[in-house]
Amino acid sequence: MTETTTTPASAPTPEQLDAGRRAYELDRAHVFHSWSAQETLDPMTFVKAEGSHVWDADGRRYLDFSSQLVNTNIGHQHPTVVNAIVKQATELCTIAPQHANAARSEAARLIAELTPGDLNRVFFTNGGADANEHAIRMARLHTGRKKVLSAYRSYHGGTHLAINATGDPRRIPNDDGDSGVVHFFPAYPYRSYFHSDSPEQETQRALAHLEDMIVLEGAANIAALVLESIPGTAGIYVPPPGYIEGVRELTAKYGIVYIADEVMAGFGRAGKWFAVDHWGVTPDIITFAKGVNSGYVPLGGVAMSETIYQTFAQRPYPGGLTYSGHPLACAAAVGAITAMREESMVENAARLGEEVFGPELLAMAERHPSIGEVRGAGCFWAIELVKNRETKEPMAAYGGSSPEMNELIAALKSAGMLPFANFNRIHVVPPLNISDDDARRGLAIIDEALHLADAHV
Ligand code: PLP
Repeated sequence: MTETTTTPASAPTPEQLDAGRRAYELDRAHVFHSWSAQETLDPMTFVKAEGSHVWDADGRRYLDFSSQLVNTNIGHQHPTVVNAIVKQATELCTIAPQHANAARSEAARLIAELTPGDLNRVFFTNGGADANEHAIRMARLHTGRKKVLSAYRSYHGGTHLAINATGDPRRIPNDDGDSGVVHFFPAYPYRSYFHSDSPEQETQRALAHLEDMIVLEGAANIAALVLESIPGTAGIYVPPPGYIEGVRELTAKYGIVYIADEVMAGFGRAGKWFAVDHWGVTPDIITFAKGVNSGYVPLGGVAMSETIYQTFAQRPYPGGLTYSGHPLACAAAVGAITAMREESMVENAARLGEEVFGPELLAMAERHPSIGEVRGAGCFWAIELVKNRETKEPMAAYGGSSPEMNELIAALKSAGMLPFANFNRIHVVPPLNISDDDARRGLAIIDEALHLADAHV
């Protein structure tokens, strides 16, 4: 495989650094940020990026072990994608969604080729949340039912129904109580809700719980079950063997539309094109975003089965977006998928998971008493930190931060890493084409910084 993320040569220019400093001032004066108390923020300002590296407004270089919000799967400024966007912009910047265009048609064809089974029809959205909104709307219209099942410890997006479907604490201040979403407990062996002793028992008990939920809520009322194939922001907990297959069986048994949310886990992140491919499962709908074009231009979508598609073959689908299938976003998707294929990035992610991240993180867990568990696949790993391995007391409460985690995050940044941290976890989620040297350098930075966390055990 060609490594596109070798150490970049050039530092930012003085003009870029000046622009970065001014950007910070203007940001603080005018920009309203997501999920934050506005005046407690001190955003980092970036002026340049290349491959697995980004530079801040002081000219400092960071190894991007976050892939931003776990979306820059091909790394930064990949020339194939940059060129595809530029070419598209010179030819056709925008066209209304009711008209066909080459970039959208080709992106849909490629996605249909990559998705499992007969998920060959693609509705494009602007991101992941609206993909889930539309997937649920389609499921409700397809089944004539209203309720939606979704897991605690999940994230499905920030829009109305998507945040109500979300299981993590970001839902709570947004929960309107009558969205029709009912939450179930997911399979999560490390902190089992079912007091399971083994992954096999966890699968069996979690599926029994899910079936009870379906029966008690009334299968005839349940339109869809939406589930991240490997939950991402909520902790990258890989489902135990048999769980995803069991979800597929139960949803089929009760006529419930199975929506696999692959917004974060899809497009190679977990070492397969889609995480469901790990279990050979075909859901009724896959929602995607992020890695489809690595976020170079906003894009998401809904890939649906022929059965779902047929519901809308003669009856209008009552939904749409001005920018559905935007040419620049779709050209970026064609470029990104092409680059991923040409450079075997998905295979590389799988190899890195098996040869580098898996073994190195397990070895780290032996050395550091603050590590409760490491888990993941491909370039999608979580290090769960605890104050006590016996009680599993987390280094920060679920939904919160802590001085211990803040100290660790600051140490990672000052060592030249841009980490992805969430509650009591550090996620190891670099671009899929990170060089082995950079992957090992990032792990060494984490290894060194974890001594700070160990001191709190
Ligand atoms: N679903 C999952 C699994 C996600 O991780 C995210 C974002 O992190 C979303 C949906 C929402 O995507 P977006 O932020 O593009 O709306």
